Amino acid sequence: MGYATQPKASHFVNGAYLEDTAGEVIEVVYPATGEVIAKVHAATPAVVEAAVSSAKAAQAEWAALSGTERGRILRRAADMIRERNHDLSELETYDTGKPMSETLYVDATSGADALEYFGSLAGSITGEHVHLGGDWGYTVREPLGVCAGIGAWNYPTQIACWKGAPALACGNAMIFKPSETTPLCALKVAEILHEAGLPAGLYNVIQGMGSVGASLVTHPEVDKVSLTGSVGTGKKVYAAAAAEMKHVTMELGGKSPLIIFDDADLENAVGGAILANFYSTGQVCSNGTRVFVQKGIKEAFLKRLAERLDTAVIGDPMDEATNFGPMVSKSQREIVLSYIEKGKAEGARLAYGGGAIDGNGFFIQPTVFADVTDDMTIAREEIFGPVMSVLDFEDEDDVIARANDTEMGLSAGVFTADLTRGHRVIGKIDAGSCFINSYNDAPVELPFGGSKQSGVGRENSKAAIEHFTQLKSVYVRMGDVESPF
Ligand code: NAD
Repeated sequence: MGYATQPKASHFVNGAYLEDTAGEVIEVVYPATGEVIAKVHAATPAVVEAAVSSAKAAQAEWAALSGTERGRILRRAADMIRERNHDLSELETYDTGKPMSETLYVDATSGADALEYFGSLAGSITGEHVHLGGDWGYTVREPLGVCAGIGAWNYPTQIACWKGAPALACGNAMIFKPSETTPLCALKVAEILHEAGLPAGLYNVIQGMGSVGASLVTHPEVDKVSLTGSVGTGKKVYAAAAAEMKHVTMELGGKSPLIIFDDADLENAVGGAILANFYSTGQVCSNGTRVFVQKGIKEAFLKRLAERLDTAVIGDPMDEATNFGPMVSKSQREIVLSYIEKGKAEGARLAYGGGAIDGNGFFIQPTVFADVTDDMTIAREEIFGPVMSVLDFEDEDDVIARANDTEMGLSAGVFTADLTRGHRVIGKIDAGSCFINSYNDAPVELPFGGSKQSGVGRENSKAAIEHFTQLKSVYVRMGDVESPF
């Protein structure tokens, strides 16, 4: 095994690794081979308490630093992540099975982008002066306190940084619980942050299943919860957080539309649809899995898509030539295969792939269904795997209505040569993160997040500052107080 996959201990609490073998064992499986590559223990209540109390103890002093001082540490951590990108990418590949051709360019690097961006922004987090005639007022952006971050398994390093960087920049402390499927990478983020000078207690990582996440959500000392996960989990976490009126950010699932008009550049449209369905083996929340293709371009689109899918290099994720890896787990592969069976049973036409790939790893073929209709299960439910549904359309208004006919609203894309139409269509789609003649770009400078059941709040960009701070308003009277008696 290459980069040390076995962490020094399961948790990182109060600036150091921490173990408690009384916690349930969680096996970490390398998805390309099915081998167990590491074991961690779920956090016991004692570990949860240690994490929360160290975060609580450290936060006030951290908040009292200037933003520039806080930001300097985050930016140093960003540099260290970039210097160690190769090793971190290898670990991400072991954790998730995503090929090195992705992890080297997208995972630790996007985490570093977030640390750099929010580190640079930290010194500019200010309130406002408000003129009120003779009197005046001002606002202060104050940190929320102790924040809990709960992650999904598809982008473990990125999620650990997307939540940690803005939280810390704003003067909060964070306790991060990675997905039990991919527990390794967040520990490295914690290690690097502390090596970069972050005081102990401000970024803790604790392992565990949903129950450990739930114990953070309901903990009286936790002020905010930021979850990346499925809609079902989001509803539970949102409800639990509401009981104590905690702040939340919810980054949840999607069933996003990608609309391809027949004037679109074919190669770009096919490339966009591939990025929207097969990057990270389809395990991306914002994927455009309902691909609406206008009738005039449909056959050419399906033909060219199949030709390009034939060139996918499926195999050993450590080989940098590989560009399509396994599913994250055996169970996720079973879920996806069952959706493929549903697609066939409900009458969709299997146009490409459709099966598991033999071997010990959790590989599955890139799969395309054509002639999909709006009511089919594969067009309604999030599959979270490499399954593209192609639906036909003719009319612009009709396709907009169909694209919006979902309870989710994370993303949407449109490919067209007519830019006026591109903006018009995106303007009418109910989704948070949209693309015109592109798909799945997520630069830290742009807000990321969903509408409808896909989420609450936004990550990244200046918008994230609003979700990790609260405003204090102060009225200042310059003259005497006039009271009625
Ligand atoms: P999941 O909902 O099963 O789990 C997410 C996290 O929540 C895990 O860490 C899990 O342990 C924890 N959890 C589960 N039950 C909990 C509870 N009751 N209280 C607190 N925590 C609990 O999701 P997953 O299978 O890990 O990830 C896939 C899902 O995540 C997909 O739906 C995908 O769309 C979504 N996702 C969304 C985004 C986004 O930014 N919008 C990004 C990536 C993934």
